[in-house]
Amino acid sequence: MKNSLFLGAMLSLSTLLVSCGNDKPKETAQTSETAAPVEAAVKTPVFNADSAYALIGKQVAFGPRTPGSPAQKKCAELLQKELRNCCDTVYRQEVSVKGGDGKMLPCINLIGVIHPKAQHRILMLTHWDSRPWADKDTKDKDKPILAADDAGSGVGVLVEMAAKIKSFGLPDNIGVDILFEDVEDYGKEMWGENSYCLGTQYWAHNPHVPGYKADFGILLDMVGAHNALFKMESQSTNYARDVQADVWKAAADAGFSSYFPYTDGGAITDDHIPVNQILGIKTIDIINLGGTMEQPFAPHWHTHNDNMSVIDKNTLKAVGQTLLQVVYSTAARNKAS
Ligand SMILES: [Zn+2]
Repeated sequence: MKNSLFLGAMLSLSTLLVSCGNDKPKETAQTSETAAPVEAAVKTPVFNADSAYALIGKQVAFGPRTPGSPAQKKCAELLQKELRNCCDTVYRQEVSVKGGDGKMLPCINLIGVIHPKAQHRILMLTHWDSRPWADKDTKDKDKPILAADDAGSGVGVLVEMAAKIKSFGLPDNIGVDILFEDVEDYGKEMWGENSYCLGTQYWAHNPHVPGYKADFGILLDMVGAHNALFKMESQSTNYARDVQADVWKAAADAGFSSYFPYTDGGAITDDHIPVNQILGIKTIDIINLGGTMEQPFAPHWHTHNDNMSVIDKNTLKAVGQTLLQVVYSTAARNKAS
């Protein structure tokens, strides 16, 4: 993925034009909103980008993790083992989903749960499958991509985040659910938007726990590249404006505002859509929108250049530390409840 909608691009253009003229009033509103109570600094563990980077390398070493490939099976075993090390309970959903070409595709969703009984829950998700085609490349367009950034990076960040939560500890009333969803990137524009995000669509209709709910959700997609820019994706704003504001504030509190500008990034069809629409969990997308108006993603998107050479530990650190800031500020906010 991700499929930038034409409508999204138009919206983004119009909002950009509007926001150009409105920059100052916006900032003033922002300051007055956040300035009232002075919060004590939240204590968080320190995210280790080296560990996240190493786990991306291990995934990529299997080769492309496409549906039905031996690499898919091997990588699922690795991810399940990683989740077992840092979560209290691990669920595995192994099913078949129907691709846009009518093929039945093996799909393995893995869910790691921290504090299964906690009443306040945060959902964090990312896809772990590789796109079977390098359709944005100039050569070998029909071959699968290594997907270091567009799959590997989100997994690397979430496992290291969970490991740090485990060693640092987390209040009992806060739970974190980590969903590694499969078969996200088997979509094509000609097959329609529903051909993407097949693993998440399945999970949203069949969650690991019946009646599953979370206070909010955060999707990671392409969170590991050099010069990443996590602009404010506008479907996230539509569905979960307050969550997006909290996450961008957490990024600033953690010292990573430069990666999380208050800039409209346009609308992206991604895994947060089924979570918002089917489960009604307010979920945002943290996605690298550092490209151009015509092509909002980084130049390595859906090409064979999406390999370890594009991964930058500074970006992994910015995202991982921001997520830890979100988790522990949520814990601080819910202390009394
Ligand atoms: Zn993709």
